[in-house]
Amino acid sequence: MNIFKNAKPILTKLIENGFEAYFVGGCVRDKLLNKEIGDIDIATSALPEEVMSIFSKTVPTGLQHGTVLVIEQNESYEITTFRTESTYEDYRRPSEVIYVKSILEDLKRRDFTMNAIAMDVDENYIDPFKGEEAINQKLIQAVGNADERFHEDALRMMRGIRFVSQLDFTMHNDTFLAIQANCSLIEKIATERISVEFEKMLIGKSPKKAIQLCIDTNLIEHLPNFQDGKRIFSKIQTLPIKNLKTIEEFWALILLIGKFDQPESILRNWKMSNERMKQIMKLYLLLKNEELEWSHSNLYNTGLEYAIKYERLQSVLGNIANRRTEQSLTEQFKQLPIHSKAELCFTGNDLLKWTNEKAGPWLKEVISEIEKLIVEQKLTNNQPAIKEWFQTWHQK
Ligand code: ATP
Ligand code: MG
Repeated sequence: MNIFKNAKPILTKLIENGFEAYFVGGCVRDKLLNKEIGDIDIATSALPEEVMSIFSKTVPTGLQHGTVLVIEQNESYEITTFRTESTYEDYRRPSEVIYVKSILEDLKRRDFTMNAIAMDVDENYIDPFKGEEAINQKLIQAVGNADERFHEDALRMMRGIRFVSQLDFTMHNDTFLAIQANCSLIEKIATERISVEFEKMLIGKSPKKAIQLCIDTNLIEHLPNFQDGKRIFSKIQTLPIKNLKTIEEFWALILLIGKFDQPESILRNWKMSNERMKQIMKLYLLLKNEELEWSHSNLYNTGLEYAIKYERLQSVLGNIANRRTEQSLTEQFKQLPIHSKAELCFTGNDLLKWTNEKAGPWLKEVISEIEKLIVEQKLTNNQPAIKEWFQTWHQK
């Protein structure tokens, strides 16, 4: 556990300055799970300005939450002052925080028992809510009263379900019932925050288990644009979705099964970047055609990556007749005379040199025509051959 070893001097420094400091949250949980540790979070009694005065390299990344980023030996650590979130308005985390004196108070405001364990510099655990026991039992359980916790911050419901998927844990029954009772509160939460958790859920270890919870608690119907979510996701549950490899594939599947009138607007409402929207729409539109065949030009135009994704998704959808394997598509792609425009051995300028005409829309058209002929192996990709073809074409 080198990552903790490197971080210990930070705790020590805070302690030497008269403050308390602990590792908290995901890193302690993941250590107990023997999982690879993502980022190290530290909780301290020092106020943000005190943290900033103790360490030489700091960035005030989240002062409104009491968080300062400390950079030591090229590693960054989030140090957050012990705090509580006393006044919750509108079922969202409050914008204002209240600092508290003890780690115990700080652990109380955390979402699940497994995330509410602190570890001191000697690796002793402070575990007032029996988080370790929950981890051993593979249980996701809200800290304290689940109903109250979801009223305070409704995003926790989605977080709990994504942890079920990521860790392949089970939801504690009280926590499950509280999600069922409060599921509509998720509508108060910004889509961007829901989306992060929802996507982590989809690409987690046990998406089916988590999706089933979304269905059984009715949470699914309250996610953006998923009024019909029960039908869509019940159908998705019947498919071997474990075989999907990317989140884009998941979204394309959701759009296809969802039969939305305006699939693009669904993605927009889920606040995706234009780039991702384009990728997902491309895959979705390909998928609508069940019987795509991979001629050389079709494979070239679609690109290997999307062809593989298309084949994978068709298999997941149960269209298994005549499916092409990743390996055979890769072989075929390798054999294409060119793999992108950049490999063409001529440019528009060459074409202009070979004629007296001025540039115009015709130029783009003829380049595409030559590209197509080369891909279809009706013309070789070398300058003399292309020049000859071009001059004949030009004389017509
Ligand atoms: P991951 O491994 O995905 O980062 P994590 O548990 O570290 O999981 P973070 O979002 O990094 O999740 O949050 C760090 C810690 O802050 C959590 O372990 C939890 O103690 C607390 N926390 C985060 N979000 C909430 C929330 N909405 N309500 C209460 N506590 C939260
Ligand atoms: Mg984390």
